[in-house]
Amino acid sequence: MVARNARSRPRRRRARSRWWAAVPAVLVAWLLLAWLATAEVPPAGPETGVPPEAGSLPAAQPPPAEPDSRQPTLDVALSVRLDPPVLQPGDLLVIKVGLPGPGGPFESLRAGLLGRSLELSPHRGGWVGLAGVDYRTPPGRYPVTVTAAGPAGLAGATEVLVVEPKAFAESRLTVTAEQTALLAEDLVLRDRDRVARARARSHAAPLWKGSFLLPVEGRLTTDFGHIRFVNGRERGRHSGVDLAAPTGTPVRATNHGEVVLAEALHVTGLTVIIDHGLGLYSSYGHLSAIDVAPGQRVSAGDRIGAVGSTGFSMGPHLHWSMIAGGVFVNPWRFAGASLELD
Ligand SMILES: [Zn+2]
Repeated sequence: MVARNARSRPRRRRARSRWWAAVPAVLVAWLLLAWLATAEVPPAGPETGVPPEAGSLPAAQPPPAEPDSRQPTLDVALSVRLDPPVLQPGDLLVIKVGLPGPGGPFESLRAGLLGRSLELSPHRGGWVGLAGVDYRTPPGRYPVTVTAAGPAGLAGATEVLVVEPKAFAESRLTVTAEQTALLAEDLVLRDRDRVARARARSHAAPLWKGSFLLPVEGRLTTDFGHIRFVNGRERGRHSGVDLAAPTGTPVRATNHGEVVLAEALHVTGLTVIIDHGLGLYSSYGHLSAIDVAPGQRVSAGDRIGAVGSTGFSMGPHLHWSMIAGGVFVNPWRFAGASLELD
């Protein structure tokens, strides 16, 4: 019994190594790229307590500005409300600031949280902002600092955000150094630059209304936040959800907004990005066709393109992601749900 087991184990190992040898290096590299294509690494500063990794981008936004000591601090009570106050990595946070009593007026409000700075927008007598909790954020209690600035002076307030732990699925791939060398890092970075420029300026008011729609009815193949390891090292997390559907299936805008990008990118192929206002964006990748152009206003449910397998993709599917405050957030938060600011 023992002897048979001892013989069969090495045989299985040999069979596996023969299978890998039969796969051309370029196909393995393609699989690797398809795998990593949408495993974007959003900027994460040391303030988040997250160790910086190779491949991560420098912080796109400066850290929260320190209050200018030359300006007087006003005795104004800012009421800061975090909705919800307890979150998990990948969740969406709505920051609501009210200005009870006399004081101000303030020209701008900024929130600093998780190593990022966020500009708030005036909304129905108060101020509001959308933020995301990066999927790498360790559990803990984090300050959310709001600073209001106006000609008369500054006011500030701090609230505490609680981040609970969340486990994401993992998968692992082993490749050789030659296969890894086929990765065109410069083209990946060029894509990220184009996307960052398209997302640089969002409408200061919400363009969305009512429920967010699922852009396509499809089979979930890779979920949000899925962690990818290559040769034992984390190479990124899945920034959205993959929904497999036949090529040509209409892809619909999840909500009202303005198209800010509609072009072919190296890794996500034909890609559309829609600005929904207040720094909230939706992104649709690997399309076979694009039916919209930058600057075009779309309504929820409008056809913006069709499912495809362009870019680095192993089959027809939609890569759908949602971004809030520069951070990828879980699209399932939106599908079939509304986002109320009041
Ligand atoms: Zn994907």
